[in-house]
Amino acid sequence: MTNIPRTVTSPKKFMIATGLLGLMHDFVKDFGDNAFIICDEFILNKVDKEAVPGLAEAGINSTVEKFNYECTQAEIDRLGELAVKNKANVIVGVGGGKSLDSAKAVAYYHKLPVILYPTIASTDAPCTALAVIYKENGEFDRYLFLPQNPDAVIADMDILASAPVKFFAAGVGDALATYFEARACYACNGVNLVLKKPSRTGLGLAKLCFDLLRENVAQAMDAVTNKVPTPALEQVIEATIYLSGVGAESGGLAAAHAVNNGMSVVGDLHHVQHGEKVTFGLLTQLVLENAPKSELEDVIGIIKTVGLPLTLEDMGLKEFKESEWRKVAEIACAEDDTMGNMPRAVTADDVYNAMVAANTLAHRYKSL
Ligand SMILES: [Zn+2]
Repeated sequence: MTNIPRTVTSPKKFMIATGLLGLMHDFVKDFGDNAFIICDEFILNKVDKEAVPGLAEAGINSTVEKFNYECTQAEIDRLGELAVKNKANVIVGVGGGKSLDSAKAVAYYHKLPVILYPTIASTDAPCTALAVIYKENGEFDRYLFLPQNPDAVIADMDILASAPVKFFAAGVGDALATYFEARACYACNGVNLVLKKPSRTGLGLAKLCFDLLRENVAQAMDAVTNKVPTPALEQVIEATIYLSGVGAESGGLAAAHAVNNGMSVVGDLHHVQHGEKVTFGLLTQLVLENAPKSELEDVIGIIKTVGLPLTLEDMGLKEFKESEWRKVAEIACAEDDTMGNMPRAVTADDVYNAMVAANTLAHRYKSL
């Protein structure tokens, strides 16, 4: 017996609808009367025009500050000093994963509540209690583990529906792996993302994430290619932003993300998005598990529907070098990585063999 608890961790509130940017005052007023808004450059004018007047009308002071492209310690310090100077008592982040991570970090260092408006649905960043800090040169620096998840995550469908399709697809790739990884982690009573035991709720949310994708992804693509919000898109966004983040955090990761981490050593794939690499990691995991053919075909059907790269060559790999991919397998099996959440012990040789077979499988299905 062990007394390590099973956990469910989540943002305190998650909301999804159209037109929520203009209602920022409604969410901010629960937490404070002076908002410091960290904002991606592309949406700054929209925030000024649509959110700031409502805040002013509600008697809430606000300062909108442009996020400077990278979530570094220096940028977090700069934003934090400005928030203090403006006497802010609530932090708002509007943007992609890096600006939201900066907002979470500023809020943490200054013990303030944080409200996040994701503008793309490409990763789990908005809902988790984690910020990824980078060095000035863009290399990974460290994970900042936060004691709390964000206070509120607000998904404005008008903003998210008009984001580029390839970010939407990457989010689907990341969310597609959530159920299979949580299932593996639960089966072996592994370790989830808050370094506790996976809960049945985490596994259940991960399963719902997969079900929503399977039922809605084709219709959601119809919406996102036309940049219009629809109910199907709303369900997929709920899966990619909320269920994927919370399902992974409470349910745990396994081979798919471990392979993604290993793939960081492949030079040809540096530009490839997180969710695209996770997709290949998932195919590798399904090969390792010898998953039923129907399951494999469900997954591949979704990958093809959203136009995610299926093979390594689709991702931009020019040449498959055995030594490089042996290294990928080795890193994926590092002791502190999530390969340890697979129900059966997996060696670097097993992972290498599965990746080779997964890429051949991907080529075979590509032409079908
Ligand atoms: Zn991920």
